Amino acid sequence: MTENTNENQLHDVVILGAGAAGFSAGIYAGRARLKALVLDGMGGGGQMAITDIVENYPNLVEPISGADLAENMRKQMENFGVSVTFDQVEDVTFEDDRVVLKGAYGSYQGKTLLIATGADHRKLGAPGEKKLTGHGVSYCATCDGAFFKDQPVVVVGGGDTAIKEAVYLSRIVSKVTVIHRRDELRAEKVIQEKAFNTDNIEFEWFHVLDEILGDKKVTGVKIRNVKTDETKEIKADGVFVFVGIVPNTELFKGKLDLDEAGFIKTDISMNTSNPRVWAAGDVRAESVRQIGTAVGDGITAFLNIQEFLDKN
Ligand code: NAP
Repeated sequence: MTENTNENQLHDVVILGAGAAGFSAGIYAGRARLKALVLDGMGGGGQMAITDIVENYPNLVEPISGADLAENMRKQMENFGVSVTFDQVEDVTFEDDRVVLKGAYGSYQGKTLLIATGADHRKLGAPGEKKLTGHGVSYCATCDGAFFKDQPVVVVGGGDTAIKEAVYLSRIVSKVTVIHRRDELRAEKVIQEKAFNTDNIEFEWFHVLDEILGDKKVTGVKIRNVKTDETKEIKADGVFVFVGIVPNTELFKGKLDLDEAGFIKTDISMNTSNPRVWAAGDVRAESVRQIGTAVGDGITAFLNIQEFLDKN
């Protein structure tokens, strides 16, 4: 491990999370020649980096992989002198004149903090889910899809993520069965059309997943019709769960105002209940959770942080 040169330095802004919101704020901070630190506990890129194809972000005449889009944003930020420091932040203290973050490898200080920690996949809580995670249960098709070449899989959920990933998986696996609790999808119409026009995607409408079957690896699922209560089993080697997201806000419970689901409340300048702290992207309450809106949030937050720094 290299020496942590960021310790004991007071940064103008610490950006926590290197996804679409964090990168955008980082690009602006670099161009403003501020002393900025971007921290991320994972590889960076956030949810964007595990998205198969992005085609609704403006400027993309051709679709691009989420990983490539994330990489482009990272490089663009680095071009302005801001890079990502990898550390898992374990504690945050709000002091009168600064924010102090304690990570696994060091501690970091900022006059201001931008939280861009995003959100993570929600678990179903079904029997077998925990035990078989990594043994057939997955939350990332681009990461794990290849393990199921020519095998049948199920996808749970009816939102953008579930249906996009079902289409992605259909190119690899023998058959995708989408299990959805209603008979209408929440996903964008253009994504729905792709799924409906794909021969090896089938739908089990009005069904929920009651149990994931298998001892050492997934062998199938038990599903239940919510109208009739009838149950049946489907053979599958993989179960991909895409039933929404939960915010990465553990660090801020009791320290910032959160909504009922745990997302951070902000005003229109992305300022939180603490005047030195802003939040942007999927972690923010009322975010519509698109790459484009996370970018907008990050920029809005940064410009307001800059104004705060000018005045304080
Ligand atoms: P989402 O939009 O919240 O959809 C979650 C899906 O899971 C819904 O269909 C929901 O059913 C279902 N669900 C929730 N809890 C369930 C449970 N316990 N059992 C069974 N089904 C359950 O989540 P998402 O698809 O992860 O998307 C998150 C956000 O990212 C959204 O704002 C989305 O627009 C955005 N996104 C956009 C794109 C894009 O390309 N435009 C791609 C990915 C994500 P109901 O429909 O019945 O509620």
